Amino acid sequence: MKEKLEAMKAQALAELATVGTEKEVQDLRVKYLGKKGELTGLMKGMGSLSPEERPLIGQLVNSVKDTLEEKVEAALAAMRDSDKQERLRIERLDISLPGRRKAIGTLHPLTIVIQEISEIFSSLGFQTAEGPEIELDYYNFEALNLPKDHPARDMQDTFYVSENVLLRTHTSPVQIRTMLKHAPPVRIIAPGKVYRRDSDVTHSPMFHQIEGLMVDKNINFGDLKGILTIFINQYFGSGTSVRFRPSFFPFTEPSAEVDIACVICKGKGCRVCKNTGWLEILGSGMVDPEVFRHVKYDSESVTGFAFGMGIERIAMLKYGINDLRLFYENDLRFLSQF
Ligand SMILES: [Zn+2]
Repeated sequence: MKEKLEAMKAQALAELATVGTEKEVQDLRVKYLGKKGELTGLMKGMGSLSPEERPLIGQLVNSVKDTLEEKVEAALAAMRDSDKQERLRIERLDISLPGRRKAIGTLHPLTIVIQEISEIFSSLGFQTAEGPEIELDYYNFEALNLPKDHPARDMQDTFYVSENVLLRTHTSPVQIRTMLKHAPPVRIIAPGKVYRRDSDVTHSPMFHQIEGLMVDKNINFGDLKGILTIFINQYFGSGTSVRFRPSFFPFTEPSAEVDIACVICKGKGCRVCKNTGWLEILGSGMVDPEVFRHVKYDSESVTGFAFGMGIERIAMLKYGINDLRLFYENDLRFLSQF
């Protein structure tokens, strides 16, 4: 009996030394000290002991029981303590650490340029107009004096959806849509995405333009020059030299391309301006009477001018960006500089 008790105690302590979780310790306690545990099992054999042996064995049983209880409690306490230490370690807060800044986004450079240009024209009384990017051939070409057989259509590599539906190649169809809806006077700018089949360092199949249109009684070429010169001086700095060069667009007559003194070399000549000292920034002209005919404006009583510019080009000149593709790569190292 005595040997059995000692052996059981040794066995229990050996097992206790190997357990790793609180659950295992509890299981061990039930196994040895529970109502149906091994100790109870052994005590059932006490009936067969002699009256002299009985108190001695009883003492031994109690001492084994106490020892095991004690060891189990100690093991549990140690485990709880190490759990607590572990939790404290994991949840430790270093309140002296500087806070983590939230990453705040910035506006895309093209958005900034569109907003800045829009603000200037807004201050001159122009309202912002919009139109669809999937456009009818009629608004994109036909109504702008570019009939189906017009050679100038070749200059614009168009994405066609179907024979009469296309991705707009310029923001000019917004002029037509606006004039069809509103009687003169009209004073709008129309920023937006346009699409052409073109892709290299200086061309992207999708890019942005901003279109302008002013129609009223007695609008002449002087108004065109005045408004565009005010815009250029506000946007590129007062005193920026401007020049108007005769050009051709099917929807304006006469037409002019507008150059500014190179913003990089200030007109001395550099790689960006191809040593001319000038940078072309927009196209413009007096609205062709043929366009007015399509929107049922009386070209005898109203006249107007229109202009258009590429947002990417303006942004590249303003911020000294040399690769158009940077605008669309979504590289945060680039975008966060704005
Ligand atoms: Zn230059």
